[in-house]
Amino acid sequence: MTGKDMTKLEALKRYFGYDSFRPGQEMLVDSILEGRDTLGVMPTGAGKSLCYQIPALLLPGITLVISPLISLMKDQVTTLNQAGIHAAYLNSSLTAGQFQTALRNMQNGQYKIVYVAPERLLTESFLAAVQRIEISMVSVDEAHCISQWGQDFRPSYLRIGEFVDGLKKRPVLSAFTATATKEVREDILALLDLRDPVTLTTGFDRKNLKFIVRHPGDKMRTLLAYVKEHEDECGIIYCLTRKTVEEVCSRLQQEGYAATRYHAGLSDGERKQNQEDFIFDQRQIMVATNAFGMGIDKSNVRYVVHYNMPKNIESYYQEAGRAGRDGLPSECILLYGGQDVVTNQFLIDQMEPPEGADTQTAALIKERERERLRKMTFYCFTHDCLRDYILRYFGEYGENYCGNCSNCLTQFEDRDVTDIAQAILGCVKACRWRYGMTMIADTVHGSKNAKILRAGMEENPYYGKCDKVPVYQLRQVMNYLVMRGYILLTDDEYPVLQLNSRSEAVLDGERVTMKVAKEQPKTAEKKTKKKKATAQLESEIDYGLFEKLRALRLEIAKREKVPPYIVFSDKTLVHMCSAKPANREEMMRVPGVGEMKYQKYGEAFLKCINS
Ligand code: ADP
Ligand code: MG
Repeated sequence: MTGKDMTKLEALKRYFGYDSFRPGQEMLVDSILEGRDTLGVMPTGAGKSLCYQIPALLLPGITLVISPLISLMKDQVTTLNQAGIHAAYLNSSLTAGQFQTALRNMQNGQYKIVYVAPERLLTESFLAAVQRIEISMVSVDEAHCISQWGQDFRPSYLRIGEFVDGLKKRPVLSAFTATATKEVREDILALLDLRDPVTLTTGFDRKNLKFIVRHPGDKMRTLLAYVKEHEDECGIIYCLTRKTVEEVCSRLQQEGYAATRYHAGLSDGERKQNQEDFIFDQRQIMVATNAFGMGIDKSNVRYVVHYNMPKNIESYYQEAGRAGRDGLPSECILLYGGQDVVTNQFLIDQMEPPEGADTQTAALIKERERERLRKMTFYCFTHDCLRDYILRYFGEYGENYCGNCSNCLTQFEDRDVTDIAQAILGCVKACRWRYGMTMIADTVHGSKNAKILRAGMEENPYYGKCDKVPVYQLRQVMNYLVMRGYILLTDDEYPVLQLNSRSEAVLDGERVTMKVAKEQPKTAEKKTKKKKATAQLESEIDYGLFEKLRALRLEIAKREKVPPYIVFSDKTLVHMCSAKPANREEMMRVPGVGEMKYQKYGEAFLKCINS
């Protein structure tokens, strides 16, 4: 079958082993095939790669894919070659000789898809080579890297437009990203100069992810308990600082877990090694700062724990979204601690302004960051559906109740917190709106730290008024008051609390009630011993067989030196376990088993299933 008479559905089945497109994919594929410039905004794991890879197979010439990271390109090219599609990458990981060979092969028409680092586009040798070939499409992956609003800004992305303009014939342009904000989307359209583009933003909901927020007194203990419940599963633990990464990772190792770490303080060599250990399932737990993750397509990450609250919802959703790319149930847990807010505030204060920004712009950017941090903090305190909170943040409307987050699954009761609220508001009033949350909480609690003494807060009439209430609960009430507009938190570098008319009403006696989680009877906890994200699977499929198939996959992956999920995803293995295919025909019906994959591995897996 040649490119000409193969349909998009045939390509999907033959090369990727899937029977149908996921929401949004088909429309993006069609729009590209019609020759329209196209922008696809879809969440992590939605399947953006296929949206340009399928058209690339059907279009007459070559598709250039611009991608920001070497690891990402390598992963994609390995996946494509495994699927029987000729692809290559051109980036700084190649020697000069390898680079020239790849360029020559490209000119000889050996590749259908070529991944290029943005820095390479305008080099002489590359420019000369592309003038001699037919380029059907230029596709920009992780397109948000072009925008200075995002955190992954890459100046070299700004020159993509110049490269396209220099081509003999203008190819179709397509761009993909998971970043949903309006600013970033507009930047992409403008800076890539997409003409009359089709833009599609699919729903950001990831139904297979369960969202959980906890406020543990002892994070380490909570983490260890969680990891224990999830033995045998792969997970990522994100921390805010390198120091915390070191602490958490060594503790897990002491406890006998196969954990590894990743942060900017390690050598390139060690980072690479640790990342590979994780991707190749040699180490099950990755403890990392936010430096880890872009370009990690590992599909069987069953949980992402945030040991610290990240700085905004964008980062949170992106990092948490690395769980469950294969569509199987997975968990995203955030362990909140009051110190996280302080650390994030500090990091925002330390932030270097982007190159060329004047002081006004720099101040504006910081202000925006602080506002985002506030919304992130509210996420940890809301009693509404967590999924709904995230979706609303991205401008979507959820259903108020998802039934799969810690809030929807918790029973709440209304508690009268008027006394606490009055103490907080009274304290703010008595110190004439001079302080922020920490100082007020410490005062009302009656702490004796240096800051309190220096500020003379012992004299405040509300000092120690709620000495029986733990500081974290005071914070909870305070956040609730801010969220519900009973008090104002300013937008400054050091936000302070200010009263408004609603505060006065409370001071005059208006009652304040707040939802709090009902105390769970202790016995209930013991019963739910097995909480694996895959626990559900264990009852539905033959788990012993699943383990056998996993072992076979690992053996093949090691031999071929590719990550196990590139051989088959967990999801494909799960399907094999429930369908128990007995022959080629039945095996080919399993999602994820394409023609090429069957030729390579089909027999081995059939034998394993039927033995
Ligand atoms: P993204 O780039 O949007 O984060 P990927 O392109 O890496 O996502 O795809 C995520 C996973 O979804 C991959 O394992 C891919 O094979 C799978 N996938 C993509 N499209 C489909 C489909 N139509 N049916 C089943 N699985 C799919
Ligand atoms: Mg992608």
